[in-house]
Amino acid sequence: MLKFLRLLPFVVSFGLLSSACSIQAVKGVPPPTAEPLQVSRVEPSPAPAHTPTAVVPSRTPTRAATATPLPTPTPFITPPPPGAPVSIPILMYHHLKTLAPNASETLRTWTVSPEQFTAQLDYLQTRGFHTITFRQLAEFFERGAPLPTQPLILTFDDAWIDAYTVAFPELRKRGMVGVFFVPTQYVDAGGELLMNWEQVLEMDRAGMEFGGHTISHADLTKTNLVEARRQLVQGKAITEEKLGHPIVALSYPFGAFNPQIVAEAGAAGYRAAVILCCGYKQQSDLLLMLPRIRISYGDTLDELAKRLPE
Ligand SMILES: [Zn+2]
Repeated sequence: MLKFLRLLPFVVSFGLLSSACSIQAVKGVPPPTAEPLQVSRVEPSPAPAHTPTAVVPSRTPTRAATATPLPTPTPFITPPPPGAPVSIPILMYHHLKTLAPNASETLRTWTVSPEQFTAQLDYLQTRGFHTITFRQLAEFFERGAPLPTQPLILTFDDAWIDAYTVAFPELRKRGMVGVFFVPTQYVDAGGELLMNWEQVLEMDRAGMEFGGHTISHADLTKTNLVEARRQLVQGKAITEEKLGHPIVALSYPFGAFNPQIVAEAGAAGYRAAVILCCGYKQQSDLLLMLPRIRISYGDTLDELAKRLPE
């Protein structure tokens, strides 16, 4: 309870911001229905783009004969004591598209242009971050499985088609992984604005991770408990049935949660859950309230840098 209270100010302020999520979700699409998630393959963390070439070729003949540079292994970090924070930024994206100059502030808040997005991915690689999944994060905190140094998670909410047409190819091109939270009804709805199950499966098979976002993107703090439980349990089950394997993480629709909903998320079998706010410090006793960092339209790389660990 104390932990929750600590985060309460964020919850309140996010309630307002998160409404954008639903507004956009309604636009142009029939009733959503849920979706996916997954996880788990333990993707090899790609070496940073600028990985050292620490082995400088020598021109000395004698050295050249024996100098077979070995690949630079990715160093790993191990879990801290229970309750101690670890710096693992979780970036939050929604739309990835170019906006008109007069786009609303709400839309700008929840959108990043494809050009900005790819520049951000390149920047993150240059900084040495290694993308991981929530399955890896859970294994790290639950069982002490090591993570690559400078771990970072990229999340994409709501199953927008941009996740498939922009995020997926750009991530794959760089050997990076992303996590996509999809309401199952949204995926069932089809149409040009949202991903369909075929696309979800293609991404899942390619190593992307999918997570739960309930069935209909319901505000779980405003439904009755029976409905909240149905949204969590059935949304997870539908997604897992579609993917053919368990999923690990949940994104609370609108970032809305309270102690009861957090408990229900755990009871539904989620091992990790993300909220809308704020920061990058993660710890084992708050796995169902993991803060994220929002990226908005026009945010510069300098602004992004300020939200990341040194
Ligand atoms: Zn959402």
